[in-house]
This record gives sequence, C-alpha cells and structure tokens, in this order.
Amino acid sequence: MIEVDQNIINAITAHAERDYPHECGGMLIGKFEDGKKSVVETFPLENARDEADRYDRILILPKDVMRAEKYAREKGLDVVGYYHSHPDDKALPSQYDLDHALPVWSYIIASVISGTVVDFRSWEMEFDRSKFNEERIEGIDRKTAAGR
Ligand SMILES: [Zn+2]
Repeated sequence: MIEVDQNIINAITAHAERDYPHECGGMLIGKFEDGKKSVVETFPLENARDEADRYDRILILPKDVMRAEKYAREKGLDVVGYYHSHPDDKALPSQYDLDHALPVWSYIIASVISGTVVDFRSWEMEFDRSKFNEERIEGIDRKTAAGR
C-alpha cells in the first residue's frame, strides 16, 4: 500500500504530459513506516537516453539515484520508488520495467493517451522478481484523480 496525495499525482501528471510523446520519469521521495509507504514529493529526472530511444526505454542512472537519495536524506526522508509514463500505452509494467525493478520500491506508471494522462497505477515487484503486484493507492480517488 502506498499513500499519495493529489499534489503528487498532479506533479506526475504535469511531467508526463509535458514530456509526451516521450516517456518521463522521476523518483518518489517519502517515508517507509509500519509496512506502509507514503510519498511526500517527486524528484523529476531528465531522461538519460538518446532521443531516438526515448519512446519506450528509460534508464535510471546511478548518479540520479544517488542525487535523489542525498536530497531525501537531507530532509530526513527516503527514496520510496520511481514514477514514469507510458505514452500511448496502458499503466501496466512492461518486461523491461520488471527487468530493471528494485524490490520494495513502488513504481507508479501513468498512461498518457494522445497527450493526456488517463490512468495511473502503482506496482511493487514480487520478491522473487517474477512479476509486479498492483498496489493500492491510498489518499486519492484513483478513478477521478487523473480525470481533470
Ligand atoms: Zn514502463
């Protein structure tokens, strides 16, 4: 379960729509407490890949993870996950996403259809790396949150 408020969804939505038709990504900064994650703010990243590859492949560079972790630590927070967009695709994780996932982190995926975010979902990887499980998002109404 992950707790996210509407401001976070608005920030992810704005980033995803701004970068469309390219994929956007960023870190989720927040807290791990009592077996629950909460997101306090987003940490948008520049897409590290070449323009030609941007459409469906995004890479989280180790230096970006380190920057985000340093930023979070200075605020007494943690990196709790990663968000990215799927331009003209569903908010479901791809095999590529699974291959690059870290355990425990939440992966919020925004589906951007024709430039508008229409859906978003949060995923957490199974510990044996076999699949993602959808995670309940608390704190917002997922059905209406993206439908501005
Ligand atoms: Zn993806």
